[in-house]
Amino acid sequence: MTSSLSLAILPGDGIGMEITQPCVELVQQALVQVGEPKAEEKWLEAGAGAYTKLGNALPDDTIAGCRAADAILLAAMGDPSVRYPDGTEIIPQIELRFELELYAGVRPVRSVPGIKGPLADPRGDQLDFVMVRESTEGLFASVGKGSRNEQQATDTQVITRKGTKRVSDFAFKLAQKRKAEGHIGEVTSVDKANVFKSMAFWRDMFDEVAKDYPDITPRYGYVDAVAMEMVRRPWIYDVMVTENMYGDILSDLAAGLIGGLGMAPSADIGDDHAVFQPCHGSAPDIAGSGKANPTAMFLSGAMMLDWLAVEKEHAAYGEAARRLTLAVDNAFRDGTLVSTERGGDAGVDAISAAVTHQLTALA
Ligand code: ATP
Repeated sequence: MTSSLSLAILPGDGIGMEITQPCVELVQQALVQVGEPKAEEKWLEAGAGAYTKLGNALPDDTIAGCRAADAILLAAMGDPSVRYPDGTEIIPQIELRFELELYAGVRPVRSVPGIKGPLADPRGDQLDFVMVRESTEGLFASVGKGSRNEQQATDTQVITRKGTKRVSDFAFKLAQKRKAEGHIGEVTSVDKANVFKSMAFWRDMFDEVAKDYPDITPRYGYVDAVAMEMVRRPWIYDVMVTENMYGDILSDLAAGLIGGLGMAPSADIGDDHAVFQPCHGSAPDIAGSGKANPTAMFLSGAMMLDWLAVEKEHAAYGEAARRLTLAVDNAFRDGTLVSTERGGDAGVDAISAAVTHQLTALA
């Protein structure tokens, strides 16, 4: 038995409040099931609610708590009715990525058995690829810095050697790990190198990194063409790596391929810290109704355990991750559990109960 993990937990706003508690309970249940002590929970404030209450969307205490934790579990933040004086929304989850240098936004696009995707081709229901979104620069480098006057507004895209090389390196390493598990061993650079200087520079950096990984095939796609291929034949992809804004857009498209935002988990990983959170936002339109699908949050919890297994070199966390993922798969497998976002009637309570039941059955 090892000492317990310390988790920073940021429930945030809207449905974030509703999906966090069941996720933490499942993570704890999975840990106990593999013989580990329960994790120490540090619940921290951040988001539009924190801004309203404290005048700060990302208090210093919260940042310090995140830095001190072994991993950070974040639900969703933002509320369109609470804005900064310049009219922009409260997005501390993005500030946290900059603050902790979480440069690799990992968005697995894995079909859960029993969830029919929107594509007619059966291969569209067996997807398993990963999008890696650069998360510290690109067009988002301009957040809070763009200019605006009566006649025009500008936001500047920033692509650096360091930023591009480290995220490309992450993508190639991920492709190596997946190749060892039976995947094809390719990384696709998703860019617009034919039009923008910044993107031509991105591709040069990507190529420099590719030379260090002769066992992995580098591939290239222009972002517009990739958007089309992701609808036409997404099963051709293994790992893709892309600029921050392109990744923001394509990861929602990717979520649509696997049953909606409520099914899409993610991780934002840096060299020293990592945040795990669903791809979706705070969904203010359904907050408080109990209709939210908590699955993306559960799968993000499983990604956290998987990451901790590598970080802490402790296989039991990996087994806890495997069980939590399998419990999600088993809950949906026979097709009778249908979330409200897919036209069914299962919301937070029903889906949490089904996954808890399946996890218990794995004991
Ligand atoms: P952000 O920019 O913060 O990512 P967003 O503007 O993309 O947020 P979301 O909050 O993700 O918006 O919501 C988009 C739509 O998807 C809304 O109609 C919302 O109700 C729905 N949605 C998002 N997450 C879920 C979920 N977990 N379960 C059910 N519906 C969801």
